[in-house]
Amino acid sequence: MIRRFAPGSVLTSLPEPLTPDALVIGAGPAGLMAADMISAAGRRVVIADAMPSPARKFLMAGKSGLNVSRDQPLPEFVSSYFEGGEWLAPILDNFGPEDVKVWLDSHGIEHFTGSSKRIFPQGMKASPLLRSWLGLLAGRGVELKTRWRWDGWDGDGYRFLTPDGPRQVRARCAVLAVGGASWSRLGSTGSWTRLFEDRKIQLSPFKPTNVGCRMAWSGHMEKHYGQPVKPVRMQAGSAVVHGEFVISRKGLEGGGIYLLSNRLREGEPLVLDLLPHLDRATVAERLARPRGRNSFSNHMRKALGLTPVKIALFRECFRGEVTDLDAVAGALKALRPQISGPLEIDEAISTGGGVPETALDGNLMLRAAPGVFCAGEMLDWDAPTGGYLLTACLATGRHAGMAAAGWLESRVAT
Ligand SMILES: Cc1cc2nc3c(=O)[nH]c(=O)nc-3n(C[C@H](O)[C@H](O)[C@H](O)COP(=O)(O)OP(=O)(O)OC[C@H]3O[C@@H](n4cnc5c(N)ncnc54)[C@H](O)[C@@H]3O)c2cc1C
Repeated sequence: MIRRFAPGSVLTSLPEPLTPDALVIGAGPAGLMAADMISAAGRRVVIADAMPSPARKFLMAGKSGLNVSRDQPLPEFVSSYFEGGEWLAPILDNFGPEDVKVWLDSHGIEHFTGSSKRIFPQGMKASPLLRSWLGLLAGRGVELKTRWRWDGWDGDGYRFLTPDGPRQVRARCAVLAVGGASWSRLGSTGSWTRLFEDRKIQLSPFKPTNVGCRMAWSGHMEKHYGQPVKPVRMQAGSAVVHGEFVISRKGLEGGGIYLLSNRLREGEPLVLDLLPHLDRATVAERLARPRGRNSFSNHMRKALGLTPVKIALFRECFRGEVTDLDAVAGALKALRPQISGPLEIDEAISTGGGVPETALDGNLMLRAAPGVFCAGEMLDWDAPTGGYLLTACLATGRHAGMAAAGWLESRVAT
């Protein structure tokens, strides 16, 4: 609460500001890792998060199996980040897939590597890991403030909106780990960009990554919503993915499509091979076999082993005559669904854009705000699903946290 007495004179009746050594804003995996590093150096840390409980997106990631990293040699691992993400290489070099495994061990979380080299905790969920992590931080005296929404800078302090009114934190350094701009109901609203803009700090616009694409389906597709289409070869520009996707009410979603989403959002057409194990000549030859009294759909099912959902997708997208068997064969091998762009950014698994490398020094400190470090998905990098997202959030959280601890150390020394 602020009371005004006369123009220009302001008497504040705010409670005393909190004065930890370090403030971490955002209690997702990046912020928790930063707090972990700073508190391990013996510093007093306050973590503030806008939501009623920490790490909601991390917990959601665990709902379908927490894919925490990918068991690949580091150069291969790093090369999987989308174009422009190379700047993370030195940071991932210090904390890559092997380090993630050691870190899980340190929390007593058993883990395994699946057939696609994806690393998961044995129990698949994030909650046991989060419990252990929060316990460790609490044991070091780290204070977690929930329902504290960061609302801007107040000189060298940080202003928060809390259920008890405005509060201020004055810290000697801060790590911002406020996430990207998707799944806003879990806390990552991207609204912090306004605070950066107020201070004229450089930002790149958010872009949806790992997102489905929109299709205007006819009513025929309704009964196929939720059905996986597999196996299928998917291509957008020069990028090719073998795998599967899912038909949803809004369009095409799931792993294979997500991997191409950065190409599709740039307008590259999607080309699907519904029969990746057969060449076009074989498809044409099988289609030309006598079909007797079978409907054409039944004939496609029997002659080519096409599933009902693949047949429905073909019928939805094919614009030619089914009597033109050569055209049918061509379309089954290179179907071009008329997608009308990506789904809403809020529906994306992750977002690119945010704080660009050029706004930061090698310690992930904002050039425009000495002593303020950034980490996690709020940074401008982009990666497919498969454990790359969480590994980079953990690695940048660790990097920023260690740099913040070093900053505090150097301030004491001088
Ligand atoms: C459905 C789903 C499944 C996923 N599965 C995986 C997976 O298996 N593997 C993988 O690698 N990745 C996965 N991800 C992505 C991964 O969860 C995110 O990349 C990761 O959580 C980002 O971590 P972060 O700490 O940077 O940000 P977040 O986890 O988004 O945390 C940011 C925090 O900042 C807080 N915050 C924001 N603004 C403010 C403010 N103004 N004041 C105070 N607090 C604020 C938010 O409340 C939030 O708690 C998945 C994501 C989704 C949505």
